[in-house]
Amino acid sequence: MNNIVKRLNDLGVLSVGAGQDGRSTTVARRSLPGVALAFDVGLRRIHGIATSLADGRQADVERDVELERPGALDVEWILETIPLLVDELGASMDEVVGVALTLCAPLDSVSGRVSTSAGLRGWAGLDIRALFQDRVQVPLYIDNDVNAAALAERYEYGAGRDFVFVQASEGLGASLMIEGQLYRGTNGMAGQISHLSVDERGPLCACGNRGCLSAVASGASLLASLRAVGRELESVTAIVDAAEQGDPMCASVLTDAARYVGLAVSHLIKITGMQTVIVGGEMAASERYFVAPLRRAIEAHTLRNPVGETRVLTSQISSSAALLGGLQLVGGGMGMAGPSNATHALVAVGAKR
Ligand SMILES: [Zn+2]
Repeated sequence: MNNIVKRLNDLGVLSVGAGQDGRSTTVARRSLPGVALAFDVGLRRIHGIATSLADGRQADVERDVELERPGALDVEWILETIPLLVDELGASMDEVVGVALTLCAPLDSVSGRVSTSAGLRGWAGLDIRALFQDRVQVPLYIDNDVNAAALAERYEYGAGRDFVFVQASEGLGASLMIEGQLYRGTNGMAGQISHLSVDERGPLCACGNRGCLSAVASGASLLASLRAVGRELESVTAIVDAAEQGDPMCASVLTDAARYVGLAVSHLIKITGMQTVIVGGEMAASERYFVAPLRRAIEAHTLRNPVGETRVLTSQISSSAALLGGLQLVGGGMGMAGPSNATHALVAVGAKR
């Protein structure tokens, strides 16, 4: 019996017995016991959740952070929070089957190292796995938050086997789901649309290039351009809310961003042959000023295909997508990819915000 099967047997996930011929081993899946945890580390907030795989009960917690600040990952808080969440479910640490950590940085999901500091200055090469692995004593799953959100779209909302997922938030990112599998690329660098150049004479980007999508269409760049004209807004959601209430300046920056993102996504569509685009993140909350102009931009730049037009859909999972995807990473690690019991509870969590 290999180690993974032995651990799943110990946890009661699998039942292992002798085969009828007396030499082979039979392995069957039992109903799902155990507790899975996920922590989504965003630019402004860490959101953690523990869920009972048997019945979907969940406990969650949040903490504000300023992730640009070096050392803000707050490893100790996450480690201290794990047993507290498990305890809140009335479970014990022995029942924990895995912990997922998703971060708003491109990283290699195998080694757990951050691939580039283009998004978070000073983070390149940081070994996230090394910070946690020896101290959690359970399987640890590490991935980029946009990849995790794409997993949630695939398994919880039946997004299909082939799609581009675009996250339009303070940062911008994309994931490629190809034939049912996430395509992460070398060292987790696939889908880095935020550093596609969409205007070679555009503003400088933190990566050192000019006119990257990040510099002209990320939520951070919209907040900065509004600040430059004396408009201090606290978040991307504040821009969306103001636009929806008739603020012409906020409507303009959102619509301009949608056109740039649409141009970048049209390149992805041509390269991959995808027909489905799912848009998530705070900007996607504005159908009128973001999703509709994004759709028009994609149509304008994409080849006509009479066999099937490109579909641009809005994510229904809102802010809990990465967290839900984190739970999918744990389930996938146990060989149980598929809708989790936690879906409805998590959607309720997301809907509160
Ligand atoms: Zn760049």
